[in-house]
Amino acid sequence: MNSADLHLHTNFSDGTYTPEELTGRARQLGLAAVALTDHDTVEGCTRMAAACAAAGLEFIPATELTAEFDDNELHLLGYFVDTGNQTLLTEMVRFQKVRQDRVREMVARLNQLNIPLEADAVFALASCRSPGRPHVARALVMGRFCSSPDEAFERFLKKNRPAWVPKFKISALDAIALIHQAGGLAVMAHPGLNRTDGIIPDLVEAGLDGLECFHTKHTPSTSEHYVRIAKEFNLAITGGSDCHGLSKGKPLIGTVRLPYEYVEQLQARSRSKRSRAPAPRPALRAPH
Ligand code: AMP
Ligand code: ZN
Ligand code: FE
Ligand code: FE
Repeated sequence: MNSADLHLHTNFSDGTYTPEELTGRARQLGLAAVALTDHDTVEGCTRMAAACAAAGLEFIPATELTAEFDDNELHLLGYFVDTGNQTLLTEMVRFQKVRQDRVREMVARLNQLNIPLEADAVFALASCRSPGRPHVARALVMGRFCSSPDEAFERFLKKNRPAWVPKFKISALDAIALIHQAGGLAVMAHPGLNRTDGIIPDLVEAGLDGLECFHTKHTPSTSEHYVRIAKEFNLAITGGSDCHGLSKGKPLIGTVRLPYEYVEQLQARSRSKRSRAPAPRPALRAPH
């Protein structure tokens, strides 16, 4: 049966594979469709789209935005966003600046702990506009300050550890609106990791389009639980591995396989939403 992996990261955020490498893996695994969901960026989508076209794979441009609702962090996936949408791109530049400043702040805290890591070492290693804690963790390993990224998170980077820095997050309602104005569908990522089911009705009210029911960190019963909720609220059902390449040992791509019928349902939702969207206003004529 055809299947898809709709949650993947490349080295345009905190994954290790290039878009071409990731596409190569997807092809080897026999996936029919993939989506690229890099954190707070869509920069990798052009290359991934080209690689997928060459490999005969269906590609869905997407992103994963870090957002918050009632002090809960949650991740919103935006599927089928227009990757040239100016408002989306402008907001993403802002999120990326927050990420870069946060890396500097985390490094400053590490320096106070007598760990002489340099921010430039993290930026060189990340080599992207959307750096995050996994890059700081890898830099700590490269500098031999920690023996593994997991140790780096445990000792320094996890919430409330000494080098943890809170991150500005867009409100979930604004994130949904941002995705919608870019022509996309807003899907709550890995709800089982947040365990904040109580906010789902509010997000649905704000226009949430789907729930990521299938995810590496969901048990079968967690997935069933969210499939039930998705059906109750008439939400799209999506799923993906959240593969970050080789950064977490074995690559996860293809370990969560979304039956292709859900991809078709997502496409249908996207089409019907776009056809209902108001037509772009004609450009104003200059007065004679
Ligand atoms: P950031 O967006 O910079 O806050 O980093 C979040 C990323 O860090 C997520 O994509 C996770 O994959 C990764 N991450 C979060 N917590 C841990 C942890 N305890 N160990 C390893 N990776 C983690
Ligand atoms: Zn990530
Ligand atoms: Fe996430
Ligand atoms: Fe992710």
